[in-house]
Amino acid sequence: MEQYIPLSVPNLKGNELKCLTEAVSAEWVSTSGSFVTGFENEFAKYANVPVAAAVQSGTAALHLAMIECGIGAGDLVIAPTLTFIAAVNPITYVGAEPVFLDCDDSLCIDPIKLERYLAEECQSRDGKIYDKTLGKQIKAILVVHIFGNGADMESIMKIAESYDLPVIEDATEAVGTFYNTGRYKGQMAGTIGDIGTYSFNGNKIITTGGGGMLVARDPKHVKHARHLATQAKSDELYFDHDEIGFNYRMTNIQAAMGVAQLEQLEDFIDIKYNNYLRYKELGIDLLPFSDYVRPNYWFYSHITDDRDKLIQHLEENKVQSRPVWKLIHTLPMYEKCRTFSIDKAYTYHKSIVNIPCSSNLKTDDLSRVAELIKRRPISAI
Ligand SMILES: *Cc1c(COP(=O)(O)O)cnc(C)c1O
Repeated sequence: MEQYIPLSVPNLKGNELKCLTEAVSAEWVSTSGSFVTGFENEFAKYANVPVAAAVQSGTAALHLAMIECGIGAGDLVIAPTLTFIAAVNPITYVGAEPVFLDCDDSLCIDPIKLERYLAEECQSRDGKIYDKTLGKQIKAILVVHIFGNGADMESIMKIAESYDLPVIEDATEAVGTFYNTGRYKGQMAGTIGDIGTYSFNGNKIITTGGGGMLVARDPKHVKHARHLATQAKSDELYFDHDEIGFNYRMTNIQAAMGVAQLEQLEDFIDIKYNNYLRYKELGIDLLPFSDYVRPNYWFYSHITDDRDKLIQHLEENKVQSRPVWKLIHTLPMYEKCRTFSIDKAYTYHKSIVNIPCSSNLKTDDLSRVAELIKRRPISAI
């Protein structure tokens, strides 16, 4: 019997059980515990930032990022339409609304269109930028590093600086991706803009079951986000709280997994890089990652003109694959939002099929997937 090959599953063969046992044996399972600060410190060291705040999910990190950027009711945030919905929803949690932009060939937000949108569709008044049609203020740019690729941060930051707009980086899919040329050489995705967010959900490159991390250029945002994540408690003993906070802090159980997973991250990236090359050697057409980054090779995008039939054919042969997300501006909750020049996102939306990419794929699995893609019946095309 052939085994089912899933799209992306965790790889938990390191010190996960050892660290979890340590947390459970010590009966430290909740939000205070040495693994939480340990994981934050290790992550900060890896990402080369002074501090990081460990939270319950990437979504929670993004919600806190919106708050840290002072985004609120009636504001606008520029966001990509080609992304997972969790990137965009936090904009609405704080009462703001997204303006949707197109992607470029990195699959991330297109800086040329970003600049055109700001120049043609917005105006400045008293040092603030307003969308001319909606009359609302643009408060930030949300960049999402899709599938472990890196957005063109050099161009995006130049534009953001000239319009004095903060940049939130959703690097949930890009843990470990760093820039290898230009102004941001050596910097990890998520550490370039004002606030950066990461996710350790089950299908991400490293996992804590569920979890996230927030970093920021100004460490005071990290500390404040951590404060908000712990119910904004200002006095340990007397239940004093100085703001409306959240129960967003990561637990010691999650962080125990995180410590063990982070130790293996560079190994996972090596394996995923080799598997990416292997697929290509086997004749599978994969979308390239941008040459200005060392990507983490999280997801592989096969480009095809028979997306749905291919997904079905693979499924019938016990291989899981999937299309890219439905464009966010076409979903009912967001269909009335402002959009600008969306074009490439449609093309990529209908032609991408993500194929198995787990770091525990075997050589035989790669061959089987490649054969199925190459030798699919003509009727499937
Ligand atoms: C996974 C993901 C998130 C959300 O992270 P969670 O930890 O699942 O809340 C946000 N944005 C993008 C692009 C993601 O892929």
